[in-house]
Amino acid sequence: KRRDPQEREFHQAVKEILDSLVPVLARHPHYMEHAILERLVEPERSISFRVPWSDDSGQIRVNRGYRIQFNSAIGPYKGGIRFHPSVYSGIVKFLGFEQIFKNALTGLPIGGGKGGADFDPKGKSDREIMAFAQSFMTELYRHIGPDTDIPAGDIGVGAREIGYMFGQYKRIRGGHEAGVLTGKGLLYGGSLARKEATGYGLVYFVQEMLAAQGLDFHGQSVVVSGSGNVSIYAMEKAQQLGALVVACSDSAGYIYDPKGINVDTVKRLKEQDRLRISEYVKEHPHAVYTEGSTAIWTIPCQIALPCATQNELDEEAARTLVAGGVKAVGEGANMPSTLPAIDYFLEHGILFAPAKAANAGGVAVSGLEMSQNGMRLSWAFEEVDERLRQIMKNIYRSAVRAADEYEVPGNLVAGANIAGFLKVADTMLAQGVV
Ligand code: NDP
Repeated sequence: KRRDPQEREFHQAVKEILDSLVPVLARHPHYMEHAILERLVEPERSISFRVPWSDDSGQIRVNRGYRIQFNSAIGPYKGGIRFHPSVYSGIVKFLGFEQIFKNALTGLPIGGGKGGADFDPKGKSDREIMAFAQSFMTELYRHIGPDTDIPAGDIGVGAREIGYMFGQYKRIRGGHEAGVLTGKGLLYGGSLARKEATGYGLVYFVQEMLAAQGLDFHGQSVVVSGSGNVSIYAMEKAQQLGALVVACSDSAGYIYDPKGINVDTVKRLKEQDRLRISEYVKEHPHAVYTEGSTAIWTIPCQIALPCATQNELDEEAARTLVAGGVKAVGEGANMPSTLPAIDYFLEHGILFAPAKAANAGGVAVSGLEMSQNGMRLSWAFEEVDERLRQIMKNIYRSAVRAADEYEVPGNLVAGANIAGFLKVADTMLAQGVV
């Protein structure tokens, strides 16, 4: 806080981890003696750079790009790139910090990093997106590589943006280093089931958590915030498991469809036509659109899946959800619940699946994409999906085991933080003072 007092989101992410680690540090003081915490919260490297590009009117514009290479103890840096006007160092740092523990939980050999730019893709033409992505990569390329740092997508960065960045990387570097980016298109080294991975993985994780209580998705009403990559595939999988998904949103407002959200319509509006979610009601007139995205939490439901952005669910929303009968909350977005909201859920016995564990399916399948690129082959959808399902089960079990071992049974927030921390901390100890 002394060094970077304005980085609010980063402080929040660190506080959540440190609170969970109190029993670990009490039992194992050697982590403190070796300054593991001090080392963990300081990124190995932070890069910020100018991204100049010209818009369709010929005007030159300038944005700021970032790449934070946070921790490479267990493998090369790995984490997405976000294009959103709110991006600044505090957001990239919180995302990179969380990524360290998330990646450790997947069981794959990948370290933590994150990047982005304060560029707003909304309303930009395809040419402007390409111009920006190319300029961004023209600086980023010198910091990344298949064995050093492998970026992927995040908010505002999907297959289209990854494609433009990959094209530019290839043009500068020569050769075809497929493993330098993940989330690529299927035509040039992408993995089947990567697009679905975060949303499906979230639902698999919540399914495990429900099953432990004798519950499942069948017949439950579900509210999913956002209508982007994570949200769409969380809705799709929840519906496949028999849930009734009644609402989703974008940053302007939410739609309520009591008959169940038509995911094909959402896919077309968002993935293809890049329109607002309000358009949904033109095709489904029985549905209702309401302005204001956070009011989505006033809809009573049994399972809530926040899949839009950080701090979208505060304590008041948590109270409303609990009063409305929510039984389980699964975080698809990164840090979507504020700390008081998480406390409220845990105090009220709500089953709570924290982001680090529950949304790790995306990076896990990115890791599988890297393996396929390395082997020059591609696995069938079913094979990747089955591996994803197994990874989510393992993450769930590790979080439960760590929570039991440190006497906070059922607290998956603490369990996931502890399990991820132990793996990274022990690796750092083994590698000496670096
Ligand atoms: P997308 O850009 O595909 O979708 C983001 C969705 O969230 C959109 O509906 C967007 O609405 C909404 N949203 C974004 N910012 C805000 C905001 N400030 N307020 C309200 N709504 C907002 O992103 P993803 O689906 O990829 O990412 C969603 C979340 O999941 C992020 O927290 C991301 O870090 C996390 N995540 C993503 C993974 C992935 O594989 N993609 C992996 C793990 C985590 P609008 O279109 O109006 O901006």
